[in-house]
Amino acid sequence: MIRIGFGWDSHRLEEKRPLILGGVAIPYQRGLAGHSDADVLVHAIIDALLGSLALGNIGQHFPDTSPQYKDADSVQLLRDTMAMVREAGYVLSNLDATVVAEAPKLNPHLEAMRENLARPLGVHVEDISIKAKTGERVGPEGRGEAISAHAAVLVRRQDE
Ligand code: MG
Repeated sequence: MIRIGFGWDSHRLEEKRPLILGGVAIPYQRGLAGHSDADVLVHAIIDALLGSLALGNIGQHFPDTSPQYKDADSVQLLRDTMAMVREAGYVLSNLDATVVAEAPKLNPHLEAMRENLARPLGVHVEDISIKAKTGERVGPEGRGEAISAHAAVLVRRQDE
């Protein structure tokens, strides 16, 4: 038994915030605004995982009104999400994600993101694809106002 999941997220770029993508701190003069560490890539992955098992969305499990999740490490939320996936009897087969950002250049950081996410996701690096695109200078990403991320996952029953 296999199931598919899809997730999308977007966060505004702001001064005086760190830029964390895929759990990797990326040197840049601005970062993503949010209640947690605002790791838009990990948030999209979490929504894809939850969606694959019809378990709702990230806001239902990790509400941004809760002080518990203020400046939360999103990779920890990903670990908690994978615990729910395993509890439901499933494991991740593979992940394919795209981050849309006009700047900074993300290609030099994609390998670090894949390596960083392999363990929490319980898969090999080869099972994780992370791609980067610019917004071609149009839309909120293209104007440098926001960074967004899209993620698709395939999960399979653990006993198969
Ligand atoms: Mg988010």
